[in-house]
Amino acid sequence: MSDCLFCKIIAGEIPSVNVYEDEYVLAFLDINPVKAGHTLVVPKNHADDVSQSSNEDLAQVMGVVLKIAPKIQETVGGDGFNLMSNVGEAAGQSVFHTHFHIIPRFNGDGLPMWEHEGATDEGREALGEKIRNALIHQSDTLPPEPVEGASYEKMEENKYRSN
Ligand code: 5GP
Ligand code: ZN
Repeated sequence: MSDCLFCKIIAGEIPSVNVYEDEYVLAFLDINPVKAGHTLVVPKNHADDVSQSSNEDLAQVMGVVLKIAPKIQETVGGDGFNLMSNVGEAAGQSVFHTHFHIIPRFNGDGLPMWEHEGATDEGREALGEKIRNALIHQSDTLPPEPVEGASYEKMEENKYRSN
C-alpha cells in the first residue's frame, strides 16, 4: 500500500533501525520505545492488522518473534517481555499494517498493567456460551477442536466448560 508507513519502511523509503530481515519479515526498533529494545515485527505483505494477514504470513512473523525476542531481552538485560498486537483504534492501533510489539520488561519496572473490570461467574458462563455459539455458526472461522474427545457439539450441550 503506497501510503502505508510500514510498507515504506519495508521498501527502505523511510529509515529504520533494523534488527532482523528475511524474505517475509522485517523487525526494527520502535521510534518511540516503551522500553529500550522495543521492537516491531512486521510481515512484508501488507494487511491492515493481524486479523487480515494470512496464516502463512503470521506463521513467518511468529517464527521470527520467537527467535529474536529472547535475544532482544538478553541484549537489554531484561527479565521478560510483552508480546502484543493492537487491532483497531479502540485497542490503540495507530499504524494500520500488521505488527507485533516485543517490549522488554524488567523486574519492578513499574509499567502499569491492565486494569481488570472483572465479571461474575454467571456473566462469564453466559458470555462464553454466546462466543461458542458465534464460532459454531461461523464455520469459516471455526478453530480446531480444543482437545481430543471434545467437540463443539459437546460444548453446545454445555458438557465442555472452560474457566
Ligand atoms: P500501534 O500503536 O499501531 O500498535 O503501534 C505503532 C508503533 O509504531 C508505535 O509504537 C510507534 O511508536 C511506532 N512508530 C510510528 N511511526 C514510526 C516510524 O516512523 N518508525 C518506527 N520505527 N516506528 C514508528
Ligand atoms: Zn503496509
